[in-house]
Amino acid sequence: MTKIQKGKKLEVNLESQHQESSTGFKVTLQKPSKIKKYLDNYVIGQDRVKKSISVAVYNHYKRIIHQSYNTDVELDKSNILLIGSTGTGKTLIAQTLAKYLSVPFAIADATTLTEAGYVGEDVENILVRLLQVANYNINAAQKGIVYIDEIDKIGRKSASASITRDVSGEGVQQALLKIFEGTIANIPPKGGRKHPEQSLIPIDTSNILFICGGSFSGLEQIISKRIGKGELGFGGSISKNMIVNSSNGFEQVRQEDLITYGLIPELVGRLPILSSLDTLNQDDLLKVLIEPRNSILKQYQKLFLFEGVVLEFKLEALKEIVRIAHEKKAGARALRSAMENHLMDLMYELPDMQGVEQLIITKDYILSGKGLIIKPNRSKKSA
Ligand code: ADP
Repeated sequence: MTKIQKGKKLEVNLESQHQESSTGFKVTLQKPSKIKKYLDNYVIGQDRVKKSISVAVYNHYKRIIHQSYNTDVELDKSNILLIGSTGTGKTLIAQTLAKYLSVPFAIADATTLTEAGYVGEDVENILVRLLQVANYNINAAQKGIVYIDEIDKIGRKSASASITRDVSGEGVQQALLKIFEGTIANIPPKGGRKHPEQSLIPIDTSNILFICGGSFSGLEQIISKRIGKGELGFGGSISKNMIVNSSNGFEQVRQEDLITYGLIPELVGRLPILSSLDTLNQDDLLKVLIEPRNSILKQYQKLFLFEGVVLEFKLEALKEIVRIAHEKKAGARALRSAMENHLMDLMYELPDMQGVEQLIITKDYILSGKGLIIKPNRSKKSA
């Protein structure tokens, strides 16, 4: 039997021992600090979440390695629930993780899922997607990561803050529960409905890491209420607002709050790692615009450079874009559309522009479409 050796790096080979084809899915066990450092390149802020998810992912793959070492202690899987309003980076974190680990990664939207037999998408189709991303390498798919968005929307009857449980939503939760806790799901290779004559592929979900995300609007009130009650009991004096006014209102979330919100206890039990994302303020949004490796600003600059034009922004112009995006209350999601709206005219004219070397966007240009600084291409001029 192979022994775990101190000081020796462990590797999980996602290729099956018998398979010769290489799909490039191979994960090296990375330390949490290294995972976080990588996330830092792409995700602004959200330090606590990046830390806890780095540990969770490290433990997850350590657990997979552990299985092959035949010891008597079994490690349970720790799926993750990310709570935070829209555009705070939930999907980005999951996506960046999968990219770093080079494991198959699929995204699903919980609102499109239904129980088998109903109109809509079967929960098992999530696994079909993962298998497709893994180029039908079952072994790799079985160690992949799935991100399920809008998990908060399957426990409620309507978009209101009411906390009545929705029976049909519960069916989806039951179906998700099965794949979260580990099952052999028989899936149709091309997705869609199962047909009796179709051959099905068995997928073992016990080593797939599930990361769920949701904005859980109204959860803050449930948390405040619980805390308020507790404080009353002890004669305490912390006001409800202390929680609601914190950077996201979700810091003190407990599993029981999620059950009150409408998730079934069994499902909550299968999502033991809870992490809440901060709402991004204008300073954060400015950083999101400028700093990440593939920031929106860098992407537009690249687009312009393809036409031979250097695109620059005055800081005040970027701040104006941020202000406009912030008003939309959609987190960093609104940044791209704000940028697109204000650069659209320029991008329309760009291919027809002659002899331009640099364009500088000013605050005035963002506000009124006037005040664009155009620097001509000197070499062309003199030619
Ligand atoms: P959600 O929390 O709704 O899943 P996403 O992760 O899909 O949000 O983010 C939407 C857009 O905003 C993406 O383009 C993403 O790159 C950007 N974004 C959101 N949060 C951050 C962040 N913390 N750092 C960098 N970019 C972010």
